[in-house]
Amino acid sequence: MMENFVCVQCGTQFSETPEPPSSCPICEDERQFVRHEGQEWTTLKRLAANHHNRLEEEAPRLQGIGTEPEFAIGQRALLLQSPEGNLLWDCISLLDNETIAEVKARGGLRGVAISHPHYYTTMVEWAKRFDTQIFLHAADREWVMRKSPRIQFWEGTTLSLWDSLTLINCGGHFEGGTVLHWPAGANGKGALLTGDIIQVVQDRRYVSFMRSYPNLIPLGPAAIRRILERIESISFEQIYGAWWQANVLSNAKAAVNRSAQRYLRAIKDM
Ligand SMILES: [Zn+2]
Ligand SMILES: [Zn+2]
Repeated sequence: MMENFVCVQCGTQFSETPEPPSSCPICEDERQFVRHEGQEWTTLKRLAANHHNRLEEEAPRLQGIGTEPEFAIGQRALLLQSPEGNLLWDCISLLDNETIAEVKARGGLRGVAISHPHYYTTMVEWAKRFDTQIFLHAADREWVMRKSPRIQFWEGTTLSLWDSLTLINCGGHFEGGTVLHWPAGANGKGALLTGDIIQVVQDRRYVSFMRSYPNLIPLGPAAIRRILERIESISFEQIYGAWWQANVLSNAKAAVNRSAQRYLRAIKDM
């Protein structure tokens, strides 16, 4: 029997195979890691047997969707409700009937956009169930483990969607690392949805930037400056990061700038 196996460590679903893949390239990459117990696999069906998703509003028109108990990397996705169609920002592995019903009750999905490969998860399942497309930056194409005609690879520095939603390629953590500008967010002052391309840290007045978070590999000055340049002309008051309540709720652009300056001071001998 053919299965779309899911890596237990990173939550990525692979193309159909009769046996589990021999390894997970995303976990073997220096930015992630293989479980101490060794590579393990599950399936969406097995995952759904003992996990469920929690939906909770992170802001008006912005629903967090996260899995309990925590699975794989543990991020929550964001359902952004917009007049011309909803966007799923980032993704999680578990998609069950309850989640499908909850998302449909809020208007379904017009598209899925993902910050970087650690959150690709079961994106193809989501796109199929909501009959929609997935926007990924082409620079991370090699990390797609389940190919699909629903994936649209985009190139360059920005991609305009609908309602002035814009994907911005910042690089950094991954070459294709992308953030989403939501101009209507923060009561019209603008918000950025950043995954961990711009990571909201424990002190929520600051953010940080890393090549690898679990393995603590920093970025160099050129990468930090590129992130700043790419968001320089964008107005935003808030940032919604990759985890529940990992958000900067005011003066977020100043927070990014002062965090980048602090980071550049800390690595100045590199
Ligand atoms: Zn993996
Ligand atoms: Zn990541």
